[in-house]
Amino acid sequence: MAKPRALIIGGSVGGLFAANMFRSIGWDADVFERNAEELTGRGAGISTHPQLHDVTRRLGIPFDDSMGIRVNRVVFLDKTGRAYDRRDTVRLMSSWGRVFRSLRDRVPDATYHLGKSLVRVKQDAGSVTAIFADGSRERGDLLIGADGGRSTVRELFLPDLQPDYAGYVAWRAKLDERDIPEPIRAELIANYIYCLPPGELFLAYPVPGTNNETQPGQRAYNIVWYRPTTPEQLADFCTDASGKCHGTSIAPPLLRPDVIAWSKVQARALVAPQVAEIFERDPRPFFQAIFDLISPQIVFGRVALLGDAAFLVRPHPGAGTTKCAMDAECLADAINEQGIEMGLALYQRRQGAFGAGLVRQGRGDGSYLTDQLKPREQRRNKDVSWAVNDLMRDHDNRTAQVNRIQAESKRA
Ligand SMILES: Cc1cc2nc3c(=O)[nH]c(=O)nc-3n(C[C@H](O)[C@H](O)[C@H](O)COP(=O)(O)OP(=O)(O)OC[C@H]3O[C@@H](n4cnc5c(N)ncnc54)[C@H](O)[C@@H]3O)c2cc1C
Repeated sequence: MAKPRALIIGGSVGGLFAANMFRSIGWDADVFERNAEELTGRGAGISTHPQLHDVTRRLGIPFDDSMGIRVNRVVFLDKTGRAYDRRDTVRLMSSWGRVFRSLRDRVPDATYHLGKSLVRVKQDAGSVTAIFADGSRERGDLLIGADGGRSTVRELFLPDLQPDYAGYVAWRAKLDERDIPEPIRAELIANYIYCLPPGELFLAYPVPGTNNETQPGQRAYNIVWYRPTTPEQLADFCTDASGKCHGTSIAPPLLRPDVIAWSKVQARALVAPQVAEIFERDPRPFFQAIFDLISPQIVFGRVALLGDAAFLVRPHPGAGTTKCAMDAECLADAINEQGIEMGLALYQRRQGAFGAGLVRQGRGDGSYLTDQLKPREQRRNKDVSWAVNDLMRDHDNRTAQVNRIQAESKRA
């Protein structure tokens, strides 16, 4: 008998978790990625949670020290570079590229199709058909929309639903360990560092190197700097040197030199000189505007949304990749155990509740940043700076938060 077939739209971490999970339950799974070229490390460091470790292990990928860098200490630096607080912590910091590579290596090339941009979906009682921009069509038993925060699949079914801008952006920069000046290298690479300029949040931590290395000497240091940014400022940042505005995001190579230069001047003025140095030395820092979105529905007949396509979570819980893994596991297990129709209903209930819970968590965590653009009397958080104890409570409770939201979703 022919195996059932999953059509997976989007070839990033969400699509790859889905492909690996469905292959593991005996399905055929084909991935269709819009980009014409193989996706490569997007330079982004990511926090990880035990659920991510468990799903990758279940897929036969050991989540060992080669997957990330262990960090045991948090250090708060003031503007002069002085450490004014130190705390113990337990974190495993990985990178998008490291997780992507380990999943991609397990998917046969013949089933991973580049340059395939989904434009339409048709379905009947027994099958679903994906229609691509090049006119080609593919038929399967299930279509999984893992096509990210601006999901085409979601837009086809929920055309009026748009992500909400949170009022701030994350500037990101990264430097190879070997390029960090010697006097500050040891201090930085061992630590998770916070700087707290008024109204902003600056984090820096070690991540795997450019080719996913985790050995000393070959790692990298990663910066995520949340900065309140008005919609007008954002439009300016997203306008390239020819005057074309690209909406609410811009490809890093198109970022104007004057915007990059300004961001480096800001780093020098606002954060500890050690980490400002890292930011300044990255030839191409870039930013991502922060959005979130709750989908009222994530299953439409034989179509399911997964990962950022289903729920776009602000980055603070550090769980976007973990959610991709959990969505894929829940979807595959539910269908394997209960068949397509009942399995999809269970997926809607569980991961619908989980995704919404995670979005609410992220909104709460980022409300301080969102508030900065409001008049002071309308702010929920009146203070102009974070309290170290509050930050550390959240920092250390991330996994407990994900566990709690997962437990609540299982009762849904
Ligand atoms: C600043 C920041 C920090 C973050 N930090 C963390 C962290 O610490 N830990 C963590 O776990 N997560 C973190 N995340 C979130 C994490 O990066 C995302 O949740 C994750 O990448 C989502 O994966 P995805 O596969 O769902 O979507 P994406 O990675 O967005 O991939 C979607 C894919 O679909 C493709 N596609 C789009 N449209 C089509 C179409 N029509 N046809 C075919 N293909 C299409 C795209 O080209 C893309 O490759 C962070 C995010 C940000 C912005």
